[in-house]
Amino acid sequence: MDDAEGFLRQKSQAVTESIDSKKWVWIEDKAEGYLSAKILEVNGETLSVEVNTGQRLTVKRDLTQQMNPTKYDKAEDMAALTYLNEAGVLNNLKQRYFSGMIYTYSGLFCVAVNPYRRLPIYTDKVVEMYKGKRRAEMPPHIFSITDNAYNEMLQERENQSILITGESGAGKTENTKKVIQYVATVAGTGETKSEKKQNLEDQIVQANPLMEAFGNAKTIRNNNSSRFGKFIRVHFGLHGKIAGADVESYLLEKSRVVSQTSEERNYHVFYQILTAADDQMKEKYLVTGKPEDYKFLSEGVARIDAVDDEEEWHATCDSMKTLRFTDEERGFLIKVVMAILHFGNVKFKQRPREEQAECPDTADAEKVAFLLGIQVADLVRSLLRPRIRVGHEYVQQGRNYEQVVSSVAALSKSLYDRMFKWLIARINKTLETKFSKNYFIGVLDIAGFEIFQVNLFEQLSINYTNEKLQQFFNHHMFILEQEEYKKENIDWEFIDFGHDLQPCIDLIEKKLGILSILDEESIYPKASDKTFIEKLKKNHDGKSPKFKLPKMSSKNKAHFEIEHYAGTVGYTVMGWLEKNKDPLNDSVVDLLRKSTDPIIASLFADHQPEGSRKKGSQFLTVSQLHKEQLEKLMVNLRNTTPHFVRCIIPNEKKKPGIIEANLVLHQLRCNGVLEGIRICRKGFPNRIIFSEFKQRYAILAPGAIPSGMFMDGRKAAAKLVDALQLEPNEFRMGTTKVFFRAGVIGRLEESRDEK
Ligand code: ATP
Ligand code: MG
Repeated sequence: MDDAEGFLRQKSQAVTESIDSKKWVWIEDKAEGYLSAKILEVNGETLSVEVNTGQRLTVKRDLTQQMNPTKYDKAEDMAALTYLNEAGVLNNLKQRYFSGMIYTYSGLFCVAVNPYRRLPIYTDKVVEMYKGKRRAEMPPHIFSITDNAYNEMLQERENQSILITGESGAGKTENTKKVIQYVATVAGTGETKSEKKQNLEDQIVQANPLMEAFGNAKTIRNNNSSRFGKFIRVHFGLHGKIAGADVESYLLEKSRVVSQTSEERNYHVFYQILTAADDQMKEKYLVTGKPEDYKFLSEGVARIDAVDDEEEWHATCDSMKTLRFTDEERGFLIKVVMAILHFGNVKFKQRPREEQAECPDTADAEKVAFLLGIQVADLVRSLLRPRIRVGHEYVQQGRNYEQVVSSVAALSKSLYDRMFKWLIARINKTLETKFSKNYFIGVLDIAGFEIFQVNLFEQLSINYTNEKLQQFFNHHMFILEQEEYKKENIDWEFIDFGHDLQPCIDLIEKKLGILSILDEESIYPKASDKTFIEKLKKNHDGKSPKFKLPKMSSKNKAHFEIEHYAGTVGYTVMGWLEKNKDPLNDSVVDLLRKSTDPIIASLFADHQPEGSRKKGSQFLTVSQLHKEQLEKLMVNLRNTTPHFVRCIIPNEKKKPGIIEANLVLHQLRCNGVLEGIRICRKGFPNRIIFSEFKQRYAILAPGAIPSGMFMDGRKAAAKLVDALQLEPNEFRMGTTKVFFRAGVIGRLEESRDEK
């Protein structure tokens, strides 16, 4: 591994002062999270300590956390820590991070901290090192997770999934790409490439930059932020060779298409096309001007540091070529992008004393119509005076300025969204092969739990998703534990920790839950955000354990709160009904369905005009669609062996070498790592096989096991446990191992050190 090695595993342990964990504790600190402190004196439950800053303090013991002995420094698997507490976890991640070791296990989780610098740990040579190795044989790495999934798939003949979550900027997409890179390298078809024919593994790899051009954007948090979730399945044949792939996308952020905050951008592709257009593109697709010239780009910034949009466009085109897009298909994408930009520039005016808008200058509308393959007169008329169904008849209805501007925005967003879905479907078409598919590895790259100042419909959707994923994790962990306990014949009453999340999930998704009330209100003509809130209160206030009304003093003007596993979130109901209904100008949609460009005409094929939307009809609200997609994902995941990766953003400066303790602790809470530890502690997290137990701890009870006499492992272990006078609830005897509650091994270790 050469230079990679230092970043993965320490060659030699630095000599540090040996920590006697009895003499040191962690104490809470607002800025640093935890500070180490030396115990000077113990007075019952009160400790006087000297903090590493030199300051002396008196603290209650239960406000401190125990410190792990030095030998656990930079532990590769935190589940092995003697003291499994927040301070220990944070400290371990921090120490490893400062040494460039960004991956760490925590039981079933692999935690990855964004290094914000290129580390030499993803080369083909490193891929080679991880091939076929068991998890414990190699330093923690996303390659190890992937390789284990791959081998488990082949050995157990089971589908696998890798679930990657984390906040924006935490590194989910980078890690997703490493998973794909790994399987493409170790399980590629090995076909040689030629000018005309690209091999399948290249096509799978190239799908990512292409999706990023259309689905990623610069945000305050991340210069390349994915504004959609995705589940990529790579399919394999019986012998483990790649046999195809498909992608499912979730919830593209549509609002970005028409507006951005001042430090952000619209989707990358807009700037790529404007910067890179050659004469032919300019003429054919009406590409003119700079980002500042377009309303839908002018609110944000135009450039990203160290990114060359022109170069990026060439890369996007290369990806399209690799994925065998035709010129027409590429042209279609450019046309929609440019049509949206020109659409935003169409000027409307309000007629004085009339509830009617007009379009005095149709120059921009002409461009839109040209690009979309429709007639400009039809477009303008449909915008200003759409045909509305009233009973069985159609009538023309005038629209005022606000209505027209808002329907232009809705149409632009919808066009982009549908183009994006088309793009995904088109990628899938290339990645679909004739090879027989026996198994898959699915990689989920989806936004983690979000708690913002103001939490809207989007946050509820993403938090609901995470609630389901966390339940899936808890359930999986419980199944594994249960299997182990059963195998070892342990007396233990099983608790499925997945059930812990059910009340919250019910509150959101069950009959008369939040989403179904939202759907009901979305159909009812006189409903508003206000009536929705009232209905929520009526059904859930004081009735659902996870539903709360915010205290009057609440600053962020939330209307209701949900107690999620990761914390209580206040939600603000603003435009929820509109977002859920997602209304469109049906007259314009009808026009688009008759576009001379067949792909554009196909985009709205499944659109249902508003007048025909009824209860029980095929029309799905945004939340119903999401729920359906999520259910499909869960079914998919339940048929896999899951592997969990939690990405952590170390600081908000996008800089290497800085750990903001509170930011990291908050994420560990939200992403289930601490929840995993909590569950762990309820069972018997430490287990040691009999012979090892005897060998290591016999010294603590000399004479308990008669020397020179044969005694089978179980008997010897039982005698030793007896002699150590452990409480009955602190351990269980299995058939091959002794199981311990959290902390017991720590005590035994301390006594051993004293000997
Ligand atoms: P979002 O939810 O906004 O899409 P994300 O979790 O997908 O965020 P990434 O786009 O993967 O975040 O990472 C953000 C940036 O952090 C990357 O563009 C890259 O600069 C850096 N980064 C993340 N992971 C790594 C890594 N393993 N090595 C080097 N740089 C990384
Ligand atoms: Mg991303």
